[in-house]
Amino acid sequence: MNSDLAINGGAPVRDTFLPFGAPHLGEEEIAEVVATLRSGWIGTGPKTQRFETEFAEYVGSQYAISVNSCTAGLHLSLLVNDIGPGDEVITTAMTFAATANVIEHCGARPVFVDIDPISLNIDPAQIKAAITPRTRAIIPVHFGGLPCDLDVIVEIANQAGLIVIEDAAHAVGTRYNNRMIGSIGHLTNFSFYPNKNLTTVEGGMITTNNETWANKLQVYRLHGLSRDAWKRYSSHRLMLSHAILPGYKYNMTDVQASLGLHQLRKLERFLEVREQYASRYDEAFARFPGVTLQPRPITPGMRHGLHLYVLILDPAHFSIDRNEIINALLAENIGAALHYRALHTHPYYQEKYGYKPEDFPHAYQVGERILSLPLTPAMTDADVQNVIQAVEKVLTYYHVGS
Ligand SMILES: *Cc1c(COP(=O)(O)O)cnc(C)c1O
Repeated sequence: MNSDLAINGGAPVRDTFLPFGAPHLGEEEIAEVVATLRSGWIGTGPKTQRFETEFAEYVGSQYAISVNSCTAGLHLSLLVNDIGPGDEVITTAMTFAATANVIEHCGARPVFVDIDPISLNIDPAQIKAAITPRTRAIIPVHFGGLPCDLDVIVEIANQAGLIVIEDAAHAVGTRYNNRMIGSIGHLTNFSFYPNKNLTTVEGGMITTNNETWANKLQVYRLHGLSRDAWKRYSSHRLMLSHAILPGYKYNMTDVQASLGLHQLRKLERFLEVREQYASRYDEAFARFPGVTLQPRPITPGMRHGLHLYVLILDPAHFSIDRNEIINALLAENIGAALHYRALHTHPYYQEKYGYKPEDFPHAYQVGERILSLPLTPAMTDADVQNVIQAVEKVLTYYHVGS
């Protein structure tokens, strides 16, 4: 192997770029989309309804309400609880911008809490400390697909009269104490964005066991009308719909659900492949000096959904920083990525609330040291081997000390 790094002019580990999080779409998805396009009903309709039913069965929730993104779902989850100006919502500092943006959309205040530096999930002890009389909800994120300690978080919430709205964008297929994520918290939000474990291009799902919220969500997601278009159309009778509130335009379409139906059927197989590939990464990286991995539960009642496979680099062991290491991997044609810089260090949140990086030291530190490797069932064994080769090549080159 040529040990000259591609970023220094050497030959890259592979000739073609391996993208981060490529979707795995098969002929079944394509045929279903085509059939939907030919059916005469392409908007929200029977396939969206079937996808909701099958998704609820999969996670074991009573209700599943489809939306056009996880962000929309999180927004509505706050709105159906009348969360607005003067209210506070607690969330993790180690997450994607959407998790906190939706709190801002409601006019409420996001209150960040630090992570546990090992699990990378929100630290329940610090949630307790952040509760004030204005706190209304907690939004935990199952980071990378590792389940948060939900029993503890739900208990804290119940004691304080708060709602738990999970950001489960990484956690479709994640299991916690023998229950699927989506069946535990008050409201759970999944993402079907292109690089997520299951994709509908854009899309999301809200699950809940609460009938009142489920009914409200159906009204809020489509203009605030008391009946959706498909129900009116399929009844073959004039059915009046009433605008009962100024709702949103957050509905999923049958074209998207056509993908979702088949992706859901394949999901368990996808998760097995993710697990296989992650095990090969573990073998290669677990003992690499200066590299820490996110732990994965080994008890059968728990399952890491493996949306992300992350490396945390100890800067004492490398002569360049994390950003430069990602650039070196990209030059090798490996689509390494960054999830995430701590949210409280981003200009909007820093300037509006005066946060300093050290306010949440673990999230800050992890956010400066973390990187994500490509991990998707669309990859071949050879792709996995290329990732391992490139990471070993780059990290060995820049390694310092013993
Ligand atoms: C992807 C993602 C979202 C947003 O999902 P969309 O479906 O794109 O709205 C929210 N939170 C986290 C943690 C994510 O990774």
